[in-house]
Amino acid sequence: MSTSADVLIVGSGAAGLTAALNLAETHTVAVIAKGAVGDSATGRAQGGIAAVLEPGDSFESHVNDTMIAGAGLNDVRVVEHVVESAPRAIERLIELGVPFATEGNALHLTREGGHTHRRIVHVADATGYAIQQALEAAAAKHPNITLVPDMVAIDLITGRHAADFSTSGAVHGLYAWNRRTRRVERLTGRATLLATGGAGRAYLYSTAPSGATGDGIAMAWRAGCRVSNMEFMQFHPTCLYNLEVKNFLITEAVRGEGGQLKLPPGVKGGGTRFMKRFDDRAELAPRDIVARAIDHEIKRLGLDYVHLDISHRDPEFVKAHFPNIYDKLLGLGIDITREPIPVVPAQHYTCGGVLVDLDGRTDAPGLYAAGEVTQSGLHGANRLASNSLLECLVFGEAAARHIVANFADLPDVPKVRPWDESRVTDSDEEVVIAQTWGEIRRFMWNYVGIVRSTKRLERAKHRIDMLRREVRDYYAHFRVTPDLIELRNLVDVADLIIRSALSRKESRGLHYTIDYPDLLPVAKDTILVP
Ligand SMILES: Cc1cc2nc3c(=O)[nH]c(=O)nc-3n(C[C@H](O)[C@H](O)[C@H](O)COP(=O)(O)OP(=O)(O)OC[C@H]3O[C@@H](n4cnc5c(N)ncnc54)[C@H](O)[C@@H]3O)c2cc1C
Repeated sequence: MSTSADVLIVGSGAAGLTAALNLAETHTVAVIAKGAVGDSATGRAQGGIAAVLEPGDSFESHVNDTMIAGAGLNDVRVVEHVVESAPRAIERLIELGVPFATEGNALHLTREGGHTHRRIVHVADATGYAIQQALEAAAAKHPNITLVPDMVAIDLITGRHAADFSTSGAVHGLYAWNRRTRRVERLTGRATLLATGGAGRAYLYSTAPSGATGDGIAMAWRAGCRVSNMEFMQFHPTCLYNLEVKNFLITEAVRGEGGQLKLPPGVKGGGTRFMKRFDDRAELAPRDIVARAIDHEIKRLGLDYVHLDISHRDPEFVKAHFPNIYDKLLGLGIDITREPIPVVPAQHYTCGGVLVDLDGRTDAPGLYAAGEVTQSGLHGANRLASNSLLECLVFGEAAARHIVANFADLPDVPKVRPWDESRVTDSDEEVVIAQTWGEIRRFMWNYVGIVRSTKRLERAKHRIDMLRREVRDYYAHFRVTPDLIELRNLVDVADLIIRSALSRKESRGLHYTIDYPDLLPVAKDTILVP
C-alpha cells in the first residue's frame, strides 16, 4: 500500500506538531507516530519552557546561561536565534490555548538550575502534557493534517529505492510498518521531516518514553546524513530503581527539601550519607556532580542502587509536598514517610543527533529534522534546563517555513519500489531480540554511562560490533516487527554514541572520562560522516 502527502512528518511531539501546524495553511501534511499520537517525551515534560519575559532579564543573559551550560560548544548564532524567538513561541502556544500559570496579569515564571533569572513558563508540574494536548487538538482539527498513529517508520526512501535505482541521495518519504494491518507501507512526499525525539532507551535506565530508540538518528545516518555530538547524554541523578518501573523520576525537590543520599545496608558504611565526600554542597550539588557521585558509589561497591531518604521529615509534610511520588511508591510497596527510596541515575536527554542548519535542513535534499533528534548547535556539551521544548518549537516552525518557501525546488517523487519481503520468513526466535536489547542497554549503562574510560569504551565497541553483525544478519532473514525495527536502530545509535565518546580526548560538559579529565583549549563538535 502507498500513501502520499506534500510533507511527511515522523513524530507527533512538540517538534513534529509545530511543524505540521505551520505547514498546513498551504500544504497537505501526514504526521505519523509509532504508537499513540500523544505518547512522546513532550507529554512527559514537567518543568516548562525558558523565555526572557521578566523585567530586568535579557536575551544576552539567557544566551550566556545557555553557553555556560554547554561548556563553550554551542553555536552562538543558533543560541541567539532560539533565545530571541522564545517569547513569540510562547505567545503562539497561548494562542493555541496552553493554560500557562499566571500571577496577576503576567505569566508566572519559575527559576531552574543554571538560569540566572526567573524565566520558566509552566503549567503546574505537567507543562509538557498541556502543550501536547493543545498541539494535538489544533492538528486534529485542521483539514490539511492527517494524524496517523501506530505507523513505525523503518527507513527513508532515497534514490536506491526508486524503480530506476537512481543514485540520488534525495529523500522522498519512508517505508513504515503499519501495526494495524501488519504490513509495510510506502509513504511518499516532496519533503520529509524527522521529529522522532531522542535515543534514551539505549540505556538501562532512562526517563524517556519506551519509543525513544533513536530511530530518526539511525534512519538519517543510513540515508547518508552526518550525525554529531552523540557522546553528550544527560543523566538525571535520581530515578526510581525498580525492576518493573524503569522510568519514574524522583524530582530534585526531594533533595531540596532535605532528602539524604545514603549507601544501602549490607555494605561497608551502609546507612550513611556519602555526598559530602564528593562536594561540600552534599545533596544540593549540581545535577552532574550528584549523578557522577551516585554512579561512582554504585560501581565502586557493585550496588544496584543507593538510597534517597526523606523519612526523617514529618510524614504530613512529605505527603503534602510530594503527593504523586508518595502515592506512586506506596502502590509499589514503599512508604516514603517511613523508608528510603532506592534510586539510580537515569538517562534523561540526548544532546547530539542529526546535524541541521538554522532551517532544519539535513545533508539529504528533501530531508529536514527538528527537536531532540537533532544537533542544531543550541545545547553544546550540556543542555540548559527547559531549553529543549523551546528548540522543538523554534526549529519546527523554521523547518516548516523553509519547506513552504522552497517547495517548488524540492526533489520530485520518483516511482518507488514496494517493500521486498519475498526472501524473508517470520522469526521463530523472538527471544533473540529481547536478549540483544537487554544486553545493549546494560553495557551502555555500565561502559558508556556517566563516568567513562577508554578501556570501558573499547569493551563497549567490541560488543556493539559483534551485535551489529548479528542484528544485520537477523534483519536480512526475518520479516520486520516493531521490536526488530527498534533493535536495528538501537545498535546503530549505540555504535554512534560509542564512536563519538571514543573520539573525544577530553572531559567536557556531559562527557566525563577518567583517562582525559581536562578540557582541551579549543571546543570542537564531534561529527561522524557516513
Ligand atoms: C521526564 C521528562 C521531563 C522533561 N522535562 C522537560 C522540561 O521541563 N522542559 C524541557 O524543555 N524539556 C523537558 N524534557 C525534554 C523534552 O520533553 C524533549 O526534549 C522534547 O519533548 C522532545 O520533543 P520532540 O518533538 O523532539 O520528540 P518527542 O516529544 O519525544 O516525540 C517523538 C515522536 O516521534 C515518534 N517516533 C519516534 N520514532 C518513530 C518511528 N520510527 N516511526 C514513527 N514515529 C516515531 C514518537 O511516536 C513520537 O510521536 C523532558 C523530558 C523527559 C523525558
